[in-house]
Amino acid sequence: GRLQPTNTVDSVCGFCATGCSLRVHLKDGEGVNLSANPSYPVNIGMACPKGWEALRVLDAPDRATTPLLKDASGKLQAVSWETAASTFAAKFKEIQQKHGPDSLAWLGTGQITNEEFAFLGALGKFGMGIRHGDGNTRQCMATAVAAYKQSFGFDAPPYSYQDFEDSDVLVFVGANPCIAHPIMWQRVMRNPHNPEIIVVDPRRTETANSATQHYAIAPKSDLSLFYGIARELIERGQVKRDFVEQHTEGFEEFETFVQDYTLEKVSEESGLSIAEIERFVESIAAGKRVSIWWTMGVNQSYEGVRLAQSLINICLMTGNIGRPGTGANSITGQCNAMGSRLFSNTSSLLGGHDFLQDEHREKVAGILKIDVSKIPNENCWAYDQIVQGVEDGRIKGLWIIATNSAHSWIGQGRFREAVEKLEFLVVQDMYHSTETAQLADLVLPAAGWGEKEGTFINSERRIGRTRKVHKAPGQALSDFNIFRILANYWGCSDLFKDWRSPESVFKILTRITEGRPCDISGIDGYDLLVEKRGIQWPYRSEKMDGETHRSLFSDGVFYRKNGRAKFVFDHPKPLPEPVCSDYPYVLLTGRGTSAQWHTQTRTSKSDVLRKLYPKDAYVEVNVDDAKALGVSSGDCVVVSSRRGTVKAKAFVTPTVQAGQLFMSMHYAETNYLTKPDFDPYSRQPSYKHCAVRLSLP
Ligand code: SF4
Repeated sequence: GRLQPTNTVDSVCGFCATGCSLRVHLKDGEGVNLSANPSYPVNIGMACPKGWEALRVLDAPDRATTPLLKDASGKLQAVSWETAASTFAAKFKEIQQKHGPDSLAWLGTGQITNEEFAFLGALGKFGMGIRHGDGNTRQCMATAVAAYKQSFGFDAPPYSYQDFEDSDVLVFVGANPCIAHPIMWQRVMRNPHNPEIIVVDPRRTETANSATQHYAIAPKSDLSLFYGIARELIERGQVKRDFVEQHTEGFEEFETFVQDYTLEKVSEESGLSIAEIERFVESIAAGKRVSIWWTMGVNQSYEGVRLAQSLINICLMTGNIGRPGTGANSITGQCNAMGSRLFSNTSSLLGGHDFLQDEHREKVAGILKIDVSKIPNENCWAYDQIVQGVEDGRIKGLWIIATNSAHSWIGQGRFREAVEKLEFLVVQDMYHSTETAQLADLVLPAAGWGEKEGTFINSERRIGRTRKVHKAPGQALSDFNIFRILANYWGCSDLFKDWRSPESVFKILTRITEGRPCDISGIDGYDLLVEKRGIQWPYRSEKMDGETHRSLFSDGVFYRKNGRAKFVFDHPKPLPEPVCSDYPYVLLTGRGTSAQWHTQTRTSKSDVLRKLYPKDAYVEVNVDDAKALGVSSGDCVVVSSRRGTVKAKAFVTPTVQAGQLFMSMHYAETNYLTKPDFDPYSRQPSYKHCAVRLSLP
């Protein structure tokens, strides 16, 4: 009947970085339903609840359908695109002229397409002369980027998902793929080798429950633990000396460095027994194909880069890289975090180039046919530095695109106070109701996933096509078209004459990547992406005939100048905020469910997804702690840190250890408590550890 589809197109999902292909069934060009694509090598006919509900969240009543501008009384009022775009240009230019080039910034996202990323970066920096722009990928992937760059010479997650099925030992560190990357977890479940699955996490997560070994370490004792494991592997003669000599540098220094990390010391710091650590080491030693996987438990740390490198070091010294089923593998968070890593961030010029290198700037300028002086020769401020700039009054105009900073940024109280100081805040989003859009002076209504064309790059470096299967409501436009309009009103559209459509930009980008590790110059357009069911970078001109997956470094050659991977290490730092008698609990944070996404901006619009997850903020409390405090599940409790106080419902559970609490990132309350500390190399926020107290109201 009414919903009988007449056509079907395949589109990569716009939530997480797994990059599943969804088969969208269309009637008269509109998606009426979807199913999981059985022939895509990523998800092989599977999808998680978010993917199944991807179409449902597009028709919510709080979609932004027209530009909104704050009137004299402070109320957002509907205005035309003409008024919105001319106000954007006039306000931002006025600020720039009055306060100089540091006075404007943007905060982007891992949710828009590669073509949009590239456009935002080029428009902001080359067209508008905005000096500072970063994205919410700073909150998830920056650590892995910095770690890979220092260790391998390029931001290169080396794996393919086939490695989940080929490993005989899989180690998950600070990762809960059961709910955070459920389809990746399904790939683990398909592993035919009866693998050892080892989880390192202070909480007994869903993944830990399904593992063969779980090490519930003391929070942030991880760096010591992995140095101790490296030491023990050396003691047991488990170093692959040939590989280390031929393909790495710095091992001798590393070998000396880890001597301090004795079993006794590491046992004391981690809370694991010596026998447990020995079992862990024996499992790695016994594995023929060991892979180590990590996500936010590693990345979101004040010492995340060195922690990620402690995992990379173990893979290098045991030769567990470059072979099927191995690798030091950072799992990406958002659907296109990888795109931001290659096409627009604080240090990466289009296509994995470098702002600091003259020849890179000249090459990019030549391909774009623009004057090289338009391309900055310096890196710009990261997210936290931009927020600091707003707080200090140096940044007066801020443009936030497809991210909900007023929920997700660490230390919310401070963030909101800072934003109050802005002269002009522009928020470009699908919904006018987000916490951030509510603070805006100007809201630009954006089309979302399913309402535009483009490409995403998933966690295994696979570029996939995402399709328009739904008409954006009202006057909402794709981010791509918003950037075109703003370029026009700014008066810099002559720089973007060839940027006519997403595919024309994609073709420019493929040319720009030529000669870089992420070279995709062999992809001549969108059709090849569809024909090949997504393509992993690099893809020069060779044919991937019959190949559905590919990992890096099979030749043992890394991207550093001498071709060698480097052992990088430092001693752990003291905890930024240890517990004390006033704040006696460690607050852990993380994803709470496979049914919600980040700040729930989209996923809360689905009736189905909402039913799969508690509506109100909750805090997980250990059974013994709850007994001592007289707290039962369902009780309203108060959680306080030095930065804020929030209410939440108690959920009493043995999955958190005594002295620890857990709250989910999906609720706005959580980041009123977190403490803004940052890794010095990646500037990634340290969300996973701060000191709090728990009381009854
Ligand atoms: Fe796949 Fe992630 Fe989309 Fe779920 S959210 S369907 S796991 S890409």
